[in-house]
Amino acid sequence: MSKRKALITGICGQDGAYLAKFLLDKGYNVDGGEKIKNNQNLWRLKKLNIIKKIKILKFELLDEKTINRVVKNGKYDEIYNLAAQSFVDKSYSKPIYTSDVNGIGVTRILEAVRKFSKKTKLYQASSSEMFGNVSPKIKNENTNFQPVSPYAVSKLYAHSMINVYRDVHNLFCCSGIMFNHESPLRDDQFVTQKIIKNLIKIKYKKMKLLKLGNIYVERDWGYAINYVEAMWKILQHKKPDDYIISTGKTYSVKTFVEKVAKYINIDLVWSGRGINEKGFDRKSNKLIIKIDKQLFRPSEINYILGNPSKAKKILKWSPKTDLDDLIKIMCDTELKNYDEELK
Ligand code: NAP
Repeated sequence: MSKRKALITGICGQDGAYLAKFLLDKGYNVDGGEKIKNNQNLWRLKKLNIIKKIKILKFELLDEKTINRVVKNGKYDEIYNLAAQSFVDKSYSKPIYTSDVNGIGVTRILEAVRKFSKKTKLYQASSSEMFGNVSPKIKNENTNFQPVSPYAVSKLYAHSMINVYRDVHNLFCCSGIMFNHESPLRDDQFVTQKIIKNLIKIKYKKMKLLKLGNIYVERDWGYAINYVEAMWKILQHKKPDDYIISTGKTYSVKTFVEKVAKYINIDLVWSGRGINEKGFDRKSNKLIIKIDKQLFRPSEINYILGNPSKAKKILKWSPKTDLDDLIKIMCDTELKNYDEELK
């Protein structure tokens, strides 16, 4: 049997890199879409030692011609669209760009598949952000969407288009409604990685103060390696469908900070409440965490929790890594990087 062939857009991102490794290990031929040729973006693929096994192609979600050419010539069995302007915060200042890339960009791919490669299965990276603050607290695949940021609106547009092309054009296209997932390959701008990297800097006296936004918001955090397995499973199921991929547990950012501090042996104590809440190192009595109003989002989701029962039942997928293990994995990687830097 000939090797299966997949295209991963956004291959240079966190999920793109892990999914590429996962598919290579399964014996796939993997092509990866890169927005612009930039050697610096390849660090994750280098870290996983897979760069030589992947064919990197130029792939820009704004560029219809290139998308058509890549999809037509590639003859892919599977396409995983992970490319996106993935920063919620940036979407407030760049709403048009975010909508075009994350929303219309997906229609460009769907059209290319419909016109040139109808047998190709397509996975779309949808997001828990699409739910906003809608009730009930725990979301499933039947929960309504009520997006509160340009990012979430753009993702909902794409999510809806996937449904339209599945129903109207009979394409095998699916969405994974992914809840937050983290790893040592997470970009520094996301709050989990920011907390870990900065608290470790504070521990080693390379930094004095960590500034955070709303620490009371709660998130359902999983491990990216578990989540890319779910993406693959979604496309292997006989019927195309959408699935929530989450852990089913939620924790506040404040709890995340406490767990990290404890793991790296910072004795953290809080004082005050709300915007005035502050974190101190009990041993030195020094202020190490401060709340910064500037870091609050213009519209915030207070509570994110997903019910992964459908994926568990139908795909036999389950999240294998709990938050403590995830924190251990991320902190150990960063501590090791630090030790190497100090050598
Ligand atoms: P990521 O690390 O930010 O990766 C996104 C990738 O998309 C980057 O390589 C980026 O390239 C690329 N990209 C950005 N704009 C593009 C464009 N115009 N054309 C082509 N490529 C473009 O994100 P991730 O964490 O791996 O997430 C993967 C996907 O899942 C994204 O669609 C994200 O929105 C979605 N998602 C993620 C989570 C999560 O918790 N990680 C949760 C729900 C949904 P540059 O770096 O060069 O800009």
